[in-house]
Amino acid sequence: MRIRKTAAAGAVVLALAATATACGGESGTAGDKPAGGDLFSGKYKVASAPKIDSAVLKKAQKAKKITVGVKADQPFLGFKDPATGKFSGFDIEIAKMVAADLGFSEKQITFKTIDSNVRETTISKGSVDFYVGTYTINDERKKQVGFAGPYYTAGADLLVRKEEKAIKGPDSLKGKKVCSIVGSTPLQEIKKPKYGANTTETSKYSDCVKFLLDGAVDAVTTDDAILKGYAAQRPEKLKVVEKPFTKEPYGVGMLKDDKALRNAITDALESHIKNGDYKKAYEGTLGKSGSSYVAPETPLPRY
Ligand code: GLU
Repeated sequence: MRIRKTAAAGAVVLALAATATACGGESGTAGDKPAGGDLFSGKYKVASAPKIDSAVLKKAQKAKKITVGVKADQPFLGFKDPATGKFSGFDIEIAKMVAADLGFSEKQITFKTIDSNVRETTISKGSVDFYVGTYTINDERKKQVGFAGPYYTAGADLLVRKEEKAIKGPDSLKGKKVCSIVGSTPLQEIKKPKYGANTTETSKYSDCVKFLLDGAVDAVTTDDAILKGYAAQRPEKLKVVEKPFTKEPYGVGMLKDDKALRNAITDALESHIKNGDYKKAYEGTLGKSGSSYVAPETPLPRY
């Protein structure tokens, strides 16, 4: 576990991190299943041997399996059940829809957990065929990877303890301890001097939530869609401030120069948005954590 601290009291956080690791998911949220059982798995019609002129895809078709990078600690979005090893959530459904149009059934998908701080390097190395994990499309990242989408737009928000009264939005963070994730856009935003926050930086969202529950930090910042999932798991202890302060358009990430793959994934997203699979998947997963449904705009951008 990698933890960085920009203010004093780093030792406290490191000690807590060690405890969290030793206890596994027992005291925090990391090991908890999202409510709602298996949280939906739609069945998507698998295309038979689609002709797509993509090197990545040809290799995957030959191997008869596809590797998809995802998150494992975001309930309702990308979550790995520690008991069964099964992945669930909205991003997992998006991955299955896309894979089906590329010619791969659910059984042919290998999900690989990739945290935010290593996304660009992992994608560029070709260790995953594509990536679906609350991945904000932006110009800086576009220099390193290709994107299809956006298939959803979130916004950075704050997760606080239920009894919190002083934190009402990003402007009330002066001198407060705020946890976020290395390599994520909300961390970049909250480090701006205008907010005056003391940041704690780690690579797992579940660590930040543990720190918040344990009182080591005052708030967690990342996308509202992610935070609502944690609040839904612990409604008696946590709440989302609901003052989004950035726009986070989610894209499917892939190798930068595979234009054929990017077009095929864009086609797949558009067709599942049009045929209703997208909405059904949303309502069966993310919608259950309190995020309201907004239809994504189509046609999606092509570049
Ligand atoms: N969407 C933001 C990002 O891509 C935050 C969520 C995440 O770390 O995946 O940086």
